[in-house]
Amino acid sequence: MKKLRVAIAGLTACSGCQLSLLNCEDELPRMLELFEFHYFPMASSPALMEGEYDAVLVEGCLSMPHEKELLQELRRRSRYLVALGTCAVCGGVAALRNGEEREQLRQSVYGENQVASETYEPLPLHRVVQVDAAVTGCPPEKEELLRLLAGLARGVLPVAIDYPVCTECRMRENLCLLTERSALCLGPLTLGGCSARCPSLGVPCEGCRGPVPEANLAEALEIYAEKGFDKATVRDRLRRFCPEWKL
Ligand code: SF4
Ligand code: SF4
Repeated sequence: MKKLRVAIAGLTACSGCQLSLLNCEDELPRMLELFEFHYFPMASSPALMEGEYDAVLVEGCLSMPHEKELLQELRRRSRYLVALGTCAVCGGVAALRNGEEREQLRQSVYGENQVASETYEPLPLHRVVQVDAAVTGCPPEKEELLRLLAGLARGVLPVAIDYPVCTECRMRENLCLLTERSALCLGPLTLGGCSARCPSLGVPCEGCRGPVPEANLAEALEIYAEKGFDKATVRDRLRRFCPEWKL
């Protein structure tokens, strides 16, 4: 069986998504039977981009001019482009301060007279190139990464999840933190796929996987209001991982 040529690149991000992939230690030998990783700067050097790719997995959002060029180059060379992790899918924590004055932000981080790299408001990948599939999460779940790779090995893209974290909470028979404990849990509006990782440990969902499509927003806001959380509070919490979250 011919191995697939894969590239893995990181833009503005913490590298956690790429690390999640490298942490699939038991599965790495099988991965290497199926894929040739031709461009993976975090894991190999020198990192040279050559030829065409069957798939490119891109972690992180766009915040610097050279990142846009790199992304466009990867797009040109690859059959499939996959957004890897919440930053790539919807901006993530790097985009947390979008909407604020950038010069002020720069000064607060680097001081008045420091020279900093040229940056712009962080953008998710789909704002610049066509994205064929997304594996969200901060970082993505190992099982989802493996499902993505298994699919790519067979020439198919993963089926997108379309249910909220609450569904998985129900499946695990968790006590509802929102209705029973009046905690600001974002499970009703957040894309599932993490097996309700946080509520299962008694911790409210922070929305790290981004918005679930077609969420019942009106009903969720009603429940939040009953528990004492107004729309602005819910919106601000949601936007920590996804500044483009419409609410
Ligand atoms: S605890 Fe959170 S995720 Fe679980 S059912 Fe309640 S609102 Fe949904
Ligand atoms: S429960 Fe929420 S915050 Fe926790 S991993 Fe899942 S989506 Fe992220």
